[in-house]
Amino acid sequence: MSLITDLLTGISSGRIELIDLTAPLTEKTPVLALPEPYKNAQPFELELISRFDENGPGWYWNNIHTGEHTGTHVDAPNHWITGRDGLDVSEIPLNALFAPAVVLDVTERANKDPDFLLQISDVEEWQAANGPLPRGGWLLYRTGWGSRAHNAEDFANADDTGPHTPGVSAECAKWLAEETELAGFGVETVGTDAGQATALDPIFPCHHYLLGAGKIGLTQLQNLDRLPATGIALAVLPLPIVGGSGSPARVVALVENKE
Ligand code: MN
Repeated sequence: MSLITDLLTGISSGRIELIDLTAPLTEKTPVLALPEPYKNAQPFELELISRFDENGPGWYWNNIHTGEHTGTHVDAPNHWITGRDGLDVSEIPLNALFAPAVVLDVTERANKDPDFLLQISDVEEWQAANGPLPRGGWLLYRTGWGSRAHNAEDFANADDTGPHTPGVSAECAKWLAEETELAGFGVETVGTDAGQATALDPIFPCHHYLLGAGKIGLTQLQNLDRLPATGIALAVLPLPIVGGSGSPARVVALVENKE
């Protein structure tokens, strides 16, 4: 049998499970809210063209209005000033977008401390237990935030000091960017950085270091609780927007069903 047949047989038999990590796109999909004086993206919106009416008697279709960074989406290297000469979203190679992935789970600690920041020692401990991070692959950072996605208020978890959501320390972001061969870093939160990342040095360290190193960001993932720690094939499928800094993406994990 060919490898493709093996793969397809695995899927049709249920031995390989397809798990959708994508948040549905609706007008309620949470978007990042930057403080004044910065400009924000518009929420996702469907604009009706026709629906079996005088504008199109036999067909239904819409225009979509969306930011590049809405819902489950990719941050291309050129999204950040440190990566401004890097790849745009249409240029990201397919072998970075279909690649191995692993999950590092800090849900318990993020539940206790919504401002939890991942440290280098956490990743080293994970590696001691699970093996090396996948070369050319993805580290998916599970914080439990995906379970809040249906409620914009819980998801943003903001008070008068701004949003409180977990992220990565500046030291760890620099280390992930410079000392690993990861293709990208994926999170459940609205962005790859912590809610309080403007208080870090540099501000937004995940964006700063990872995109500066040509790596890819991936946000608003769901269903990470259904994934094992290792042994995942990840398909990340952003639109090839020429010159774009990111794109909503469909993200699907392939995992072996051992039951
Ligand atoms: Mn983004």
